[in-house]
Amino acid sequence: MRINETFFSIQGESTWAGWPCFFIRTTGCPLRCRWCDTAYAFYEGEERTIASLVGEAAGYSSPLVEITGGEPFVAPGLSELASELLNLGKTVLIETSGAFPVPASLDRRCRIIMDVKPPGSEMAHTMREETFRDLRPGDEIKAVVTGREDFDWTLAFLDRAGLPGDIPVTFSPVFGECRPEDLAQWVLASGRNLRVQVQLHKILFDPERRGV
Ligand code: SF4
Repeated sequence: MRINETFFSIQGESTWAGWPCFFIRTTGCPLRCRWCDTAYAFYEGEERTIASLVGEAAGYSSPLVEITGGEPFVAPGLSELASELLNLGKTVLIETSGAFPVPASLDRRCRIIMDVKPPGSEMAHTMREETFRDLRPGDEIKAVVTGREDFDWTLAFLDRAGLPGDIPVTFSPVFGECRPEDLAQWVLASGRNLRVQVQLHKILFDPERRGV
């Protein structure tokens, strides 16, 4: 597989935020979100065998492994890598843009963290409600918003998708663009069962640093 980087850090964006986690970042993403903070993963990377990645994951006592990108759903070898990690006893998170359907070959013991890309990302045209209907209990949705318009757009999108209520939805503000307090007020006023979070890894570490 073509892999941009691997690193051991703190999970920063999901209901798993705060836990130590081994990350595998795949190379390549067809999207170009305006606020993308991992553009270095579009092309940079090296070929790694699945055995070497699984062996590296085994070296960490943390049960959590996240496959991120880039866009893992377009990475050849994803399903085999995920299955091998699951067979090792790891809890496998896969973070995806929301622009691609869940691969049919993917072992659904994986926990999918699916982004919704609102207009502020300039990638809203890649969102399809039916993609989100593949989510199951144990999966979750994440939306990073630049402001109120993104927040409202995301709620309307999720309403049209008609997802089961047991799939958590977490909102976070685009770092440096949306005031976290404003987002908290919108969530409270919505009367909905939504979560607010900040991008924890950007507070714990230098926000410009790679591998965190
Ligand atoms: S989907 Fe992720 S990796 Fe791809 S452009 Fe958007 S933020 Fe960057």
